[in-house]
Amino acid sequence: MLFGAIEAGGTKMVVATGDEYGNIIKKTEIKTTTPDETVGNIKEFFGESRLGALGIGAFGPVCLDEKSTDYGRIGKSPKLEWVGFSWIEAFRDLCCPISIDTDVNVAAIGEYVGGNAAGTDDFIYITIGTGIGVGVMIGGKPLHGMLHPEAGHILLPISTDDGFSGICPYHKNCFEGLASGPAMKKRYGTEPYLITDERAWETEADYIAKAIMQYICCYSPKRIILGGGVMNSGRLFDPVRKKVLMYLNDYITARELSDIESYIVPAGLSGNQGITGALHLAQNEIRKDKENE
Ligand SMILES: [Zn+2]
Repeated sequence: MLFGAIEAGGTKMVVATGDEYGNIIKKTEIKTTTPDETVGNIKEFFGESRLGALGIGAFGPVCLDEKSTDYGRIGKSPKLEWVGFSWIEAFRDLCCPISIDTDVNVAAIGEYVGGNAAGTDDFIYITIGTGIGVGVMIGGKPLHGMLHPEAGHILLPISTDDGFSGICPYHKNCFEGLASGPAMKKRYGTEPYLITDERAWETEADYIAKAIMQYICCYSPKRIILGGGVMNSGRLFDPVRKKVLMYLNDYITARELSDIESYIVPAGLSGNQGITGALHLAQNEIRKDKENE
């Protein structure tokens, strides 16, 4: 059986087909433009292939309540053309089950089924790039709740040596407002990958560690995976690990924390975690159907 997968981002969509073993058969990238044009290009990619199911990891906010008539509909996104867009309606003519989660949750699922969280049921996946997203996996399932966690928007105390007040239009000094790629760019006037000043990375590591300290207290994850363009700089893992332990200040004692290098780890799957997770969502739709028979 052939499955379809979409990792929907604000600038590009990664689209793939895969088999029932989770292997990617065909994959491409499509520029995100208007909903009509983008959906048309995605359908062209799937072509005449008959899909058993479709899995989608979508930028949020998106309704994940399967019982709601708004399931799969994009909410108050800054991408105005996409506000109110329904993934379910757009792909209804494929006549296959469709499963949706957030982009960061499908990335977490990808890490769980074949990446650096394999065998770990309770973990968090944090992506730090153009935005900051957090996928919280509890018992091998992404936490949804009322909508889905927006843990990239927790408020953080501004570091004493930082004269920057944050760029989030909703909260200013939330994690995303202080530490996303665009926040670094605004603060230092250059792309993050061009920043060489050690103090800049020290400040960045400080915000990441403050956020992680709170996630550890709230979710008690057994592992933390860090991905995204800002993390790829390679300068952050050591200072983040050191500062997380400093902020926890020995309050929490757990076996996992005693080996901090295995506790806070980079993402695996070379950037394919999102599409792998979306493919897994599609496969799960068929599994669910079989269980219900
Ligand atoms: Zn915010």
